[in-house]
Amino acid sequence: NQADETELKDKVSIIIRIRPTLTNELQEQFIRQVDDSTLKIMRPGNSLHMKFNSILPSASNQDDVYSLTQESILSFLNGTNNTIFAYGQTGAGKTYTILGDHSENPSQLNNEKILSYLQGQERGILPRSLYQILSELSKRDQEDYRLYISFFEVYNEKIYDLFNGRDQKDGLEIRESKNGDVQIPDLITVEIQNIDQALDILMVGLRNRATGSTMANSKSSRSHSIFQILLQQKIKIKNETYEDEIVIESILRIVDLAGSEKFKIPHDISIEEKQTRIDELTCINGSLSTLGHCISALIDKNRTHIPFRNSKLTRVLSDSLSGNGKITFIVCISPSMSSSSETFSTLQFANRAKRA
Ligand code: ADP
Ligand code: MG
Repeated sequence: NQADETELKDKVSIIIRIRPTLTNELQEQFIRQVDDSTLKIMRPGNSLHMKFNSILPSASNQDDVYSLTQESILSFLNGTNNTIFAYGQTGAGKTYTILGDHSENPSQLNNEKILSYLQGQERGILPRSLYQILSELSKRDQEDYRLYISFFEVYNEKIYDLFNGRDQKDGLEIRESKNGDVQIPDLITVEIQNIDQALDILMVGLRNRATGSTMANSKSSRSHSIFQILLQQKIKIKNETYEDEIVIESILRIVDLAGSEKFKIPHDISIEEKQTRIDELTCINGSLSTLGHCISALIDKNRTHIPFRNSKLTRVLSDSLSGNGKITFIVCISPSMSSSSETFSTLQFANRAKRA
């Protein structure tokens, strides 16, 4: 069925973002953009082409990336659950894409500085979404909607609330209701009314992420961070004989995934430290490959079983991945030759995700 096909193809959209060459990197390039949607990957002996929904070259800016998320933002405002992911190896530009230019460690920054990057030209998808959503909603009657945010991290298959600065040893519980809805009952959810409030609270989460007792800064690239925006809106239903008001809920999730690299375990560390790294790697690889399997299963008409339960990440995202919501992957890659093997496996993940 033709209509079905288009619908399914549009469910997942894969955008490749090539970050600029950093000052300490060689100019030598491993990938070349052929046109709006085709990348040429130059491998010794066999160059190959891969097609995606869009490719953003090094010269693209935060506006260009954000404009590709508009379909998601607008359909969220119309009541649909949507998810935006940043995927890629550490250093490829995920956090830059999601938050903005955070090159200094937030634990060493004062609030004024963090605010300036969340408000500046270079701000990423997350602050931009908050600005746009709050500005759209401000045109409506205050009585007609409520907006809430929450922010958490999945590290080693445990959930940590980023709005809670206290030690959270074992992480938060996930609960599943009878109809299959997955919830995190103890997660802090904050109602927000305006952008200043939203940025203030986001800042609390960013500081906790950088300094939190469970989360040393170096670990933040080994955890998935999930920012949730929940919108409740009153909708009036009316015809000649009948008038009613219902409340519909939609969630926008913006996810900065853990680094996808298959990093090596250093030799010169203690046995305990080695075990920690092995556990982290196992959890990251497990959750990212489960995510890939879920995406493939979601776009395959013949598959009815989606393996959401195989990782905490996919479980907590299940209600926005399934259903009629849109899934956007911003796949971040480094242009440099020294990252070629990681870049290649990143592109293979992206290539697999776009077809069943
Ligand atoms: P990741 O979160 O994937 O580990 P980062 O977002 O921290 O990567 O990016 C690594 C470095 O590269 C940071 O210093 C960041 O500011 C810089 N960077 C990443 N993408 C861009 C970009 N598109 N333009 C300018 N600088 C970037
Ligand atoms: Mg990062």
